[in-house]
Amino acid sequence: MASMWQASPAALPMSSTPPRAKCRPAWRWAAAQVKWGATNPQRRARVMMEFVRLLNRDMDKLAEVLSSEHGKTIPDAKGDIQRGLEVIEFCIGAPHLLKGEFTDSAGPGIDMYSMRQPIGVAAGITPFNFPAMIPMWKMGPALACGNAFILKPSERDPSVPLMLAELMQEAGLPDGVLQVINGDKEAVDAILDSPIISGIGFVGSTPIAEYIYGRGCSNGKRVQCFGGAKNHMIIMPDADMDQAADALVGAGYGAAGERCMAISVAVPVGDETADRLIEKLIPRIEKLKVGPYTAGNDVDYGPVVTAAAKANILKLVESGVAQGAKLVVDGRNFALQGYEKGFFVGPHLFDHVTRDMDIYRKEIFGPVLSTVRAKTYEEALGLAMDHEYGNGTAIFTRDGDTARDFAARVNVGMIGINVPIPVPLAYHTFGGWKKSAFGDLNQHGPDSFRFYTRTKTITSRWPSGIKEGASLNFKPMD
Ligand code: NAD
Repeated sequence: MASMWQASPAALPMSSTPPRAKCRPAWRWAAAQVKWGATNPQRRARVMMEFVRLLNRDMDKLAEVLSSEHGKTIPDAKGDIQRGLEVIEFCIGAPHLLKGEFTDSAGPGIDMYSMRQPIGVAAGITPFNFPAMIPMWKMGPALACGNAFILKPSERDPSVPLMLAELMQEAGLPDGVLQVINGDKEAVDAILDSPIISGIGFVGSTPIAEYIYGRGCSNGKRVQCFGGAKNHMIIMPDADMDQAADALVGAGYGAAGERCMAISVAVPVGDETADRLIEKLIPRIEKLKVGPYTAGNDVDYGPVVTAAAKANILKLVESGVAQGAKLVVDGRNFALQGYEKGFFVGPHLFDHVTRDMDIYRKEIFGPVLSTVRAKTYEEALGLAMDHEYGNGTAIFTRDGDTARDFAARVNVGMIGINVPIPVPLAYHTFGGWKKSAFGDLNQHGPDSFRFYTRTKTITSRWPSGIKEGASLNFKPMD
């Protein structure tokens, strides 16, 4: 069965001794992985198929637990589960995605082919903000490729990841192939130093991403880490201003701004555009309803994750005021009757933010939108390009030339054209640039199958094809 280790990272196998004599020590593959990796990909795909059915069966239950632990609304929780489920659906294509290449008659009597083999035991370390989607982004491709997988979810909302592991078990995943360990830095360090683990996928804040990437790589592991963000949305004078304002409200304040693809910076081009935009944003933002998910449709977004997160957001808001930005929607005194001790944060909108301010430089990860006014398109593009983060960005315009130029030149991983949160679908890949990602290859899509496999290339010739005796030359196959 898929076992779940609830507390002690000491439970993580730290020895390179293979659990079965058949496993070669140098490979350090766990016994369960060896068997799972040898299972044909069609059978592994069937486990994924059944898992999708179970996710749909339990959608309401999962969403309820997710909302009660995380705080996001039920529709948002269902979106979290759905976007993970779609990656599992993509993984059902494993038999096709794992096919190698073949060259017939690469030389006299010689055939050449490649195969993709699992990397062994992989681990995923995931953040609090998508407790269903991101664990599935990691476990789906890793398992479909034939790896064993160890999931270390966020200690702040670990229940749904555990439920996902139970559903994988119910779907037919063999014993020991998936393990969940809970904990924080101590558990992560055990993963980073365990010689049995060959690859690590991380999603979280940039300082931790850098740490995990450095320590994991120096321990000889394959590592990909996805970090924080500061996503800019450029609003050109010709944009539909109502559409742009609606998009900014959804992308800036949805999930209390706790999304790595949230828009946290609006860049209107020209003062007239900025004035029109701010005028449309203020009433929309003032109307937002903040409250517990149990209030159903009466709530647009819920609390932030912890008291510390709330304190950090409000501290950054104060710094924005002190550094001279204009707070045009002030949520600082927001209080929810009956929930005075809750981590609810009112929505904030800043105008006249400049490059040097902390609210512009740092990821706030809360319901705070900063407006930086640019005089020209080039200045707006320069803002997105100069920022240290490069996860996502968007442009709102009716002009095809400008949109095309923006998509071609901006040094950011995911681009939206009149789309504020351009999260690629499961069969494309997800990943940022600059300080938003470390390592090669993106999450989900074809890249994930490359990350969780190693390529092996075989050159074969059978005795009847051997025409010559020994040759000491390194020669072309002709
Ligand atoms: P976090 O960095 O605090 O935690 C992420 C994971 O790292 C958790 O499992 C946590 O237990 C572990 N961790 C925390 N501190 C650690 C330490 N000192 N040593 C080792 N491990 C440690 O991130 P979070 O607050 O859970 O999530 C929010 C962050 O994640 C934001 O910065 C957001 O932008 C980012 N994020 C990025 C993406 C992306 O794809 N780029 C997606 C979602 C979230």
